[in-house]
Amino acid sequence: MRTPLVAGNWKMNGSRESVKELINGVVEGAKSLNGVEVAVCPPFIYIADVTAVAGGTNVSVGSQDVCTELKGAFTGETSIDMIKDFGCQYAIVGHSERRTLYGETDDVVAEKFAVVKNSGIIPIFCIGETLEEREGGITEEVCARQIDAVFSSQGDDAFADSVIAYEPVWAIGTGKTASPEQAQSVHAFIRQHIAKRNAVIAEKVQILYGGSMNPANAKELIGQTDIDGGLIGGASLKTEDFLAVCQAGQ
Ligand code: PEP
Repeated sequence: MRTPLVAGNWKMNGSRESVKELINGVVEGAKSLNGVEVAVCPPFIYIADVTAVAGGTNVSVGSQDVCTELKGAFTGETSIDMIKDFGCQYAIVGHSERRTLYGETDDVVAEKFAVVKNSGIIPIFCIGETLEEREGGITEEVCARQIDAVFSSQGDDAFADSVIAYEPVWAIGTGKTASPEQAQSVHAFIRQHIAKRNAVIAEKVQILYGGSMNPANAKELIGQTDIDGGLIGGASLKTEDFLAVCQAGQ
């Protein structure tokens, strides 16, 4: 059985004060959780403050992105070694906001995935279709293409010790959630697609759902056979809501 993972993506929100308050609340509330893994992904500049509180607890910390390069003249970027240095266990790669707002292609995301994997940090690899693609009936094709970019560079075992987040772009930050049936169907497709390369890894890999998951819909979504938790945006910014989603994963 796969243990569910609930990961909060705080995006570019909060202040130094509010972030400290949020992580203190999450760490306190997470003490009573069992059978669910919890992670938070703060803005880079607050990672040190967050790991200072979360270090040694059952709340893991991740970055929201990483540079494709390992070091050097890349102004404004953050390397995987720096992320590791500050105690992160996860790094999100290929979030749809990075793909759409910052032009990250499937190949760039695959490069980031490789950098994270090679460092021993767990990538949270985001994929998902736009509304236009869903309406055009090519949801599975899009997800397969995004996954195949990683297989091409990393080989058949690419998704060992990795997490995948299926996040339909039309559901992110919109309040529109994929129905449990819609989400389950894509999650099952993703698992089968990975199984074509390595069935053992496909059974093990955690596939999270992301897209307006909240305390009201989390239990039913995470209750689906192939949904192994959630990547949570808006609802991860409120301690009670985030903990309620974590509880739904138990
Ligand atoms: C996300 O950005 O990963 C996300 C799922 O956001 P939200 O929960 O706000 O839709």
